[in-house]
Amino acid sequence: MAEASMHHYLIALGSNRRHHRIGRPDKVLAAALLALAADGQDVLAVAPVIETPPIGPSLRRYANGAAIIASPLRPDALLALLKRLEARFGRRRGQRWSARTLDLDIILWSGGSWHSPSPLLIVPHPAYRTRDFVLRPALAIAPHWRDPLTGLTIAQLHHRATRG
Ligand code: AMP
Repeated sequence: MAEASMHHYLIALGSNRRHHRIGRPDKVLAAALLALAADGQDVLAVAPVIETPPIGPSLRRYANGAAIIASPLRPDALLALLKRLEARFGRRRGQRWSARTLDLDIILWSGGSWHSPSPLLIVPHPAYRTRDFVLRPALAIAPHWRDPLTGLTIAQLHHRATRG
């Protein structure tokens, strides 16, 4: 595959539920990255996993991570792969705040913006700019990546999201 046709992606990973075989949420994230690599994606950088309190009524704590991958896939094809992985790890869809074995989101990609309606895909991810649990892991591996909508880097977005 020629390097010119590769895209770079910033992916966010989350889990707040043990996997019956893999174990704790942080282990689920590591296994998900191995599965991505086994599926032919080039995992270039992996952020240290952080633990964050739950959002909404769920009581479980989250493990959150981020990775940079290089891939020949366009965003819609990558989303399909991520959804297959989520399903393989046992996530039940349609339960927004419930326990999630694995949640995978496309945060940024090297091609700028992407919007497709079905299945819905918006890149940059519409909600990441204010989410510390996305920005903090992303800061460790992609501080200089720039958000095409605001023109701000991950470091600047993180600073904005966390200042008191
Ligand atoms: P979630 O909020 O993680 O349960 O995602 C629900 C749906 O959001 C997914 O099934 C996707 O179709 C859609 N979606 C829209 N934009 C994105 C994105 N940037 N990354 C991942 N999923 C997205």
